[in-house]
Amino acid sequence: MVGRCLCGRVRYEVSGSVDRAYQCHCSLCRKQGSSASSFATIVAAADFRWLQGEQGVTRFRKRSGFSSYFCSNCGATVPNQLRTNPLVWIPLGGLETSVSPRVVVHLYADSRAPWDTDQLAGRVYAEMPGLDEFMALLHGGGGQER
Ligand SMILES: [Zn+2]
Ligand SMILES: [Zn+2]
Repeated sequence: MVGRCLCGRVRYEVSGSVDRAYQCHCSLCRKQGSSASSFATIVAAADFRWLQGEQGVTRFRKRSGFSSYFCSNCGATVPNQLRTNPLVWIPLGGLETSVSPRVVVHLYADSRAPWDTDQLAGRVYAEMPGLDEFMALLHGGGGQER
C-alpha cells in the first residue's frame, strides 16, 4: 500500500498487509501529532521503501532518541526508521489505501491527557513493554517476520 504526505511530495510504499496497529499516548507522540495519541504500526525495513521525495524529509531526533520525520514542505508526519533495529515506524494516517488494522496495543496509558477519555481495547501498558514483546503483539506471536 502507498502512503503520502499532505502535499504529495513525499510518497512511500509498505508491502504486505497492515492488520495490527497500536496507539501511543505518551507526551512526545502527543506533541508530534498535536493530538491525543499516535496511531501507528511497525514493519520490517525490507517491507518499506520511499517512492518519491525522500530528500524532502526533515529528520528531527530528540536526545532521548525519539524521532519525528516530516515533509519539509507541508509538515505532515512520515515514516521513520528505528535507530537500533531494521524496523520502520508507519503512521497510519499517511496511508492512502484503505486499511482496517485492529489496534491491539496501547502504550503509555498512564501518560494520557486528561481529555483522552476513550475506552482502551486490547493490551494496555502503563509505559512501554520490551521491543520483542511489543513486536510479537503487532505481528502475531514470536515477532517473526514474513
Ligand atoms: Zn508534503
Ligand atoms: Zn509515544
